[in-house]
Amino acid sequence: GVAAPDHAPWCAMRTLVTGAAGMIGSHLVDHLLSDGHQVIGLDNLLTGQDRNLRSAQADPDFSFVLADIADEDALASVGPVERVFHLACPASPADFSTIPFEILRASSAGTMAVASFAQRHGARLVLASTSEIYGEPQVHPQTESYRGNVSPIGPRACYDEGKRFSEAVVSSFVRSGGLDGAIARIFNTYGPRMRIDDGRVVSNFVVQALRGDPLTIQGSGDQTRSFCFVDDQVAGLVALMESGESGPCNIGNDEEYSVMDLARIVIELTGSSATIEHLPLPEDDPTQRRPDITAARDLLGWKPVTPLREGLEKVIASTAEGLADR
Ligand code: UDP
Repeated sequence: GVAAPDHAPWCAMRTLVTGAAGMIGSHLVDHLLSDGHQVIGLDNLLTGQDRNLRSAQADPDFSFVLADIADEDALASVGPVERVFHLACPASPADFSTIPFEILRASSAGTMAVASFAQRHGARLVLASTSEIYGEPQVHPQTESYRGNVSPIGPRACYDEGKRFSEAVVSSFVRSGGLDGAIARIFNTYGPRMRIDDGRVVSNFVVQALRGDPLTIQGSGDQTRSFCFVDDQVAGLVALMESGESGPCNIGNDEEYSVMDLARIVIELTGSSATIEHLPLPEDDPTQRRPDITAARDLLGWKPVTPLREGLEKVIASTAEGLADR
């Protein structure tokens, strides 16, 4: 760790990050370590990558536990903590058909175990929930009060309903168990360290453009998403942790792009000669998605500061390096 930031009062917090080897988790770990905190990262490396923690592993204030969040003994071995960021769960739509039971287990038994661990230690917990709980939204942009439009039996149900259950777990622990807990709803976050085979749109398009392969647009490309750069996402999660708020609180970037726009921007920024190929639109793929971030702005004093092109430049540079290393 380094010297404490000069805004008082400040003290080093022993902090558990579940899903620490994931894209967001590993950036969060690095951020907490650079702020001088003691960090325990826990991950089963199902979709996380241990190399995301390479720089953290060199810090004496970091330790790593290779385990599943539903493993109560592994959680007990972590010992007392003051803060828990609960991020562990596969989140790519590509995972929904290949590892649905792992997703269901992480968001049910896993979240129960993590919430109970936090409660036992009197730790404040921030759950990483998702814009997916809004499903195919009938309200646009999505406010936290909107209850969503989710199919309980569709191909995305393991994740959408799983995260809705996770929110119910944290809410119940707060209401009836005295947990100091908060819920963040994360919207499409991207950044360096995404897996090249992750399957989500930003990593797919960047890898395809760099390789000169056609960019695979599912459906017409008119569907929209709002992409948040990982540094902004991490700042939002930390702001929620440091606030007394319980949320739910949308954390995302409210600039909305169509998937076709994103493809054009990636082609432009990479200078690629790649073409565009249309694939079928997956069932239940949401038509539009944009966060209303009034609550985050007003209650947390947080807002995203990284424009899409600037974030994409960083992802393109790090992905190009990663592809060259392979
Ligand atoms: N998408 C696409 N091509 C891809 C991957 C995704 O057109 O290679 C589309 C997908 O159909 C969706 C949007 O991009 O409309 C975002 O998909 P992603 O898997 O990144 O995450 P989601 O927001 O759907 O969870």
